[in-house]
Amino acid sequence: MIITRSDRSALFTAYNLARAAARKAGDLKKIERLNKALGIMQSKAYYEKERAEYQPTQTTCNCKDWHFNYARKRAYSGPCKHMLSEALALNVQVSRQVYNVTQWTEVQQWQTS
Ligand SMILES: [Zn+2]
Repeated sequence: MIITRSDRSALFTAYNLARAAARKAGDLKKIERLNKALGIMQSKAYYEKERAEYQPTQTTCNCKDWHFNYARKRAYSGPCKHMLSEALALNVQVSRQVYNVTQWTEVQQWQTS
């Protein structure tokens, strides 16, 4: 999903919520990846390149980081930056839909008054 100018505040809201949860859990390695995921989402070229290369979903990814998910050396069992970028994208998408519903409701009110 490509982030448009009007998605920016939804993107940062999703990022802030995810970062706050990770911070509360003391999960510094997840915060590192979230910062990278935010970077991915902010660049169309970067996002498209990474997606083409690793085909991430919210539950799996073909990158090395996720490949070593169960390796003890990784010291982290959470999602990679690509999977986190997919999660951020989903949140932005939900925000878009909520926005559309709000718009639609306003039009209905205008038509009936
Ligand atoms: Zn990945």
